[in-house]
Parts: sequence; structure tokens; C-alpha cells
Amino acid sequence: MKYCAQCGVELILGIESGRERPMCPGCGFIVYRNPVPVALAVATREDKLLLVHRLNPPLADYWAPCAGYVEIDESLEEGARREVKEETGCDVVIDKLLNVYSRAHMGVMLVTFAARVVGGNLVPQAQEVVATRFFARHELPDQPPPVEGKPLDYWFYEAVKEIFEDFKRGIGR
Ligand SMILES: [Zn+2]
Repeated sequence: MKYCAQCGVELILGIESGRERPMCPGCGFIVYRNPVPVALAVATREDKLLLVHRLNPPLADYWAPCAGYVEIDESLEEGARREVKEETGCDVVIDKLLNVYSRAHMGVMLVTFAARVVGGNLVPQAQEVVATRFFARHELPDQPPPVEGKPLDYWFYEAVKEIFEDFKRGIGR
């Protein structure tokens, strides 16, 4: 960010709370950089895991559970439910919090929920999804690590891999 989002004046670097941050000499606005929550739904139906084939980074061209940014007017759970609906057409109820993945410099934190598919139709509805389907435990895709990916790709890959392993062991169902 080069200019103040509030008044348009060019930002300068200053020290605030012991850390260098962009700030506005005009109105005092300070740019804080904090990890943004992403809600992920480990959505299942009849012991099968709902995955989408991703079109966009991170992990473009990989199978992964539905996930996305949480909007300001929703809870994490509501965000997870909406993402599943948008990406697959399925309606889910959120059962419980599963895990929180957090790593420095990723810019996001990943909050995963166990979700149950209770209705809707399996139709790719979002532009960021190529395909969508349910996978039984023995059908889960064995995906190679990203090649020349960004740090976020590798981190997200590890998280998805762990989610698959947990699902095989019965966690999240
Ligand atoms: Zn300003």
C-alpha cells in the first residue's frame, strides 16, 4: 500500500508499538498487517469427503476442501458454510472446530471445521472451482507437492495433506 486508504496522502514508514509500519503523515492512519482468517470445511456425507478441484492459487490445479475468506458480516462457521454452498452447491451444517493452522508470513490463518452435508446439489457454482466430488477414504487423491510454488502453496499443501490423513484416521467425521 503506497497511499493512505483514508485520505490519499503518500504513506511513510514510522515506528509504532516497536515495529516499523507504513503510516500516514496526513491523518495518522497506520497500516497493520495481520493474518486474515480463512475458513475451511471438512465436509462429509456417508463417510466421504467433499473436495473441489481448485482453479486459482494457492494450490491451483489441486484437490482440496472448500475454503475461503470470511466476510465482515459473518462468523467463521457461516463463512465455511457459504464457501461450501458457493463452490459445490451443497448445504452443510457445521459440527465442530477441528484445527487452526498458523504460520508466520503466510498472511492467512486456516481454521478448519467438521461439516456434514445435509442437502443441496453437487454442482460447481463458483468460478474458482473446476470440478467437485465426494471421495471415499481409499479414493483420496495422492497429490505431489507443488513445484516452484510460493510459500503459501507449500504451507496449504501440507495442511491439506494433514486434513486427508486425519480424515483417513477418522478425525473430522
Ligand atoms: Zn491519511
